[in-house]
Amino acid sequence: MLNIVLFGPPGAGKGTQAEKIIEKYDLIHLSTGDILRSELAGKTKLGLQAKKYMDKGELVPDKVVISMIETKIDQNPDANGFIFDGFPRTTAQAKALDELMSKKTIHIKAMIMLSVDHEELVSRLLNRGKIAGRSDDQDMAIIENRIKVYNTETAPLIDYYNMQGKYRYVSGMGTLEEIFKRICETIGDL
Ligand code: AMP
Repeated sequence: MLNIVLFGPPGAGKGTQAEKIIEKYDLIHLSTGDILRSELAGKTKLGLQAKKYMDKGELVPDKVVISMIETKIDQNPDANGFIFDGFPRTTAQAKALDELMSKKTIHIKAMIMLSVDHEELVSRLLNRGKIAGRSDDQDMAIIENRIKVYNTETAPLIDYYNMQGKYRYVSGMGTLEEIFKRICETIGDL
């Protein structure tokens, strides 16, 4: 099973690259941001609870996202593997994912970190805000807060996966195809 954590700050291109990876390797895309947005669109209790965090660019509580991920894994027992996009985002989430996987005797093969300059991130997010209409991509203060939350709460996971020998660095600068080629080379070396 090919289970990969696609990692990186908001605007690094995780969602776009995840779409290409799942197509090539026949995997299931698990994006906590996408799941939360669809809950929000459906006005579910979970979606409405998550909204107050998402609107500020803060993280939704660990318990909520961990149980969402568990449900999605359970719904796909025959998957060739999963691409985790936007999850885990805290050490508690990473530990919970490890526990969840070991209960099912599966494991994370690698954490691929897409690295992108701060200036480029902001410009990609503002651009996505215009195209996709996401409100959290249209406000500079929310964008900067999401990057700050990434740096303080999420970036420490680089050490977490490095200690497990699973951390892989990929430059997320350049064209979609260039970045995808680098990711495929990294996957090929696993
Ligand atoms: P994203 O689409 O990954 O940029 O996520 C959009 C928003 O959803 C984030 O700013 C958070 O409020 C929330 N979110 C997504 N994934 C997580 C997660 N793993 N843990 C906590 N909050 C999350």
